[in-house]
Amino acid sequence: MSGVALHGLRKYFTADTVTTAPRRGAIDGLDLDIRDGEFFVLLGPSGCGKTTTLRCIAGLEEPSAGRIEIGGAVVADTAARVFVPPDKREIGMVFQSYALWPHMTVFDNVAYPVRHRRRGLSRLEIAREAGEALSLVGLAGLEGRAPAELSGGQQQRVALARAIAARPRLLLFDEPLSNLDAQLRLRLRQDLRRVHEEAGRTSVYVTHDQAEALALADRVAVMRLGRLEQLGTPTEIFLAPATRFVAEFVGFDNLLPGTVISREAGQAAFRPDGWSGEIAGRAPAALRPGQRGVAAIRSANLRLARGEAPHGQVNSFAAAAGPVTYLGERFQAEVEVAGHRLFASLPLEGWNERGDLHHLPHWPHAHVGVAPGDVVILPDAAGEDALAEAA
Ligand code: ADP
Repeated sequence: MSGVALHGLRKYFTADTVTTAPRRGAIDGLDLDIRDGEFFVLLGPSGCGKTTTLRCIAGLEEPSAGRIEIGGAVVADTAARVFVPPDKREIGMVFQSYALWPHMTVFDNVAYPVRHRRRGLSRLEIAREAGEALSLVGLAGLEGRAPAELSGGQQQRVALARAIAARPRLLLFDEPLSNLDAQLRLRLRQDLRRVHEEAGRTSVYVTHDQAEALALADRVAVMRLGRLEQLGTPTEIFLAPATRFVAEFVGFDNLLPGTVISREAGQAAFRPDGWSGEIAGRAPAALRPGQRGVAAIRSANLRLARGEAPHGQVNSFAAAAGPVTYLGERFQAEVEVAGHRLFASLPLEGWNERGDLHHLPHWPHAHVGVAPGDVVILPDAAGEDALAEAA
């Protein structure tokens, strides 16, 4: 059993104490229950406290308050003055910088933690463990190379093999793919997930990249200002963000301010400011009629078409289309809908054979439409911020 539990975790750096601003920790009261065997991702913008959380789990930072358990055993508890040092926590870590020992071969880099953490193994057993880890990450045959003779992607694979070779109960990853180019990142991402499954360990992974989080995680914790903003499966986070902050972070690029008309059974009717009509959408968070809120829509799901809006069709609105940008798989048009400037999409069909993709006509008389399932109605961020400040 090797789940991780965080109870009331706080971390203040001494630098924080000299400011006159209200004291806010790098971690500001975090409770998390990471399940045994789970791939758990901490997601959020730079500075929200992800790395500090990971370092507290690793034992590289001492919490200012709170308790951390790994596999049911307390590894840090400020009230009881318990602090287990990192080398006694049975964890493997992979960082953004590969942090390999340059003077050692690939084999020795991977065998080193096996030799030191699992004392009593024979040379043969150490070689077998290191060899298995290297073949799991696809590096069999490169044992004798020096790290400098490998590509960045291969070096990160060595770091991964080193992390798993000593059979830790917990794997911690801090943005391990951010130094790699896009194609390699995708390949290593798939391999990471496979290694997680084959190694059968609990993994905690820090990233600011939502695509990475969605692809890797069993569950995602979105963090903001040292606190938990939303916890959910990748689909919950991607399709049903519970706050405006999460919606923006996972790519809802149209946000229409307005007023909630009604909410029932997870669905809401909403009137954007300045509109005579209503927009229907999903309402994952609690809302009451009359409350201020935003309707969040991804531009990919707001579709632009020529001519008048079809009469009586739900979520279809008259629009004036402005400049169009070619995005490869679709066009993105800037549109104006009742005083709001939004981004909408235009499928490529019918245009790609013309070959003049950069010279689409403007359509002063057009309409946009969106399926109610692709609209998320959320409470106003001002309300959220007030809640965050008050807590
Ligand atoms: P993230 O990983 O989400 O980018 P971090 O956990 O690195 O965020 O940082 C959270 C906050 O704590 C930031 O405001 C950062 O400046 C601060 N911080 C992190 N490490 C230190 C440190 N060693 N000393 C002082 N402040 C720190």
